[in-house]
Amino acid sequence: MNTLLKLQRLDARINACREREAEIPKQKSRFDIQRARLKAELDEREQVLQDLELEQRDCESEIELRRLQIDKYQQQLNAVRKNDEYQALLHEIDLVNKQIGVKEERILTIMIETDDATARLEEDRKRIQEETKEIDSECAVIDAELAEAVKQREILEAQRTPLVDKVGQELLSRYKRLRSRFLTGTVVVPLRDDVCTGCNMHMRPQIVIEVLQGDKIHSCQQCGRLLYHPENIEDAPEGTEEAASHLEA
Ligand SMILES: [Zn+2]
Repeated sequence: MNTLLKLQRLDARINACREREAEIPKQKSRFDIQRARLKAELDEREQVLQDLELEQRDCESEIELRRLQIDKYQQQLNAVRKNDEYQALLHEIDLVNKQIGVKEERILTIMIETDDATARLEEDRKRIQEETKEIDSECAVIDAELAEAVKQREILEAQRTPLVDKVGQELLSRYKRLRSRFLTGTVVVPLRDDVCTGCNMHMRPQIVIEVLQGDKIHSCQQCGRLLYHPENIEDAPEGTEEAASHLEA
C-alpha cells in the first residue's frame, strides 16, 4: 500500500508535468500572433511605397503620352490654314499642357510622400526588428521551460518503473482502472473516522478492521477507491494531506 501511495503521488506529479507541457506551447501561440501582426505592419508600409512608385510611373507615362499628343498638334498647326482651326488647336495644346502640369505637380508630391514613407519604413523596420528580437528571446525562455518540464517528467517516469514492479500486477491493474475512472482525483484514499475520504461513505466495522489490519486491500463499496488506514502508512500525514487536497480540487 505504501508503494501504491508513492506511485499515486508520483503519477500526480507526472500529470502536473504533462499539463505544463501542454500549457507552455500555448504561450507561444500568443507570440505567433504578435509576429504576424508585425509582419502585416511592415507589409502595409511597403505596400504604401510600392503604390507611390506605381503612381509615379503612371504619371510619367501619362506625361509622355500627352507630350506625344502635343507633338501631333504642333504638326497639325503647321498644316492648318483656317484661323479658327488654328485657335482650336492652340486651345487643345494649352489644355494638354495644363494636364501635364497637374501630373508634374503630383509627381513632386509623390516624391515627398515617398521620402516620408521610406523614412517611416526604415524606422518601423528597426522597431519591428527590436520587437522580433524580444519575442525570439521570450520564445527561447519558453522553449527552455518546456525542455525542463520534459526533463522533469522523464526523471519522474524513470522513478515510476521500480514502483510499478513493486506494486504487483493485480493491484496495479485495479489502480489503473480506477485512475481512468477518476481522471482528476485520487484513487487511493485514507479512511478517516471510518469514512471513505473519497466519497464520505461510512464503512462497515468489519471492513474498517480489515483495512486497519492491512492484510487485505479493500475498495470502497460506494466509489470503488482503494482504502488504507493512515496508521498503517509510514508517511501518512503527507499522504493524507495530499489525498485531501486532491479531492478538494
Ligand atoms: Zn468511497
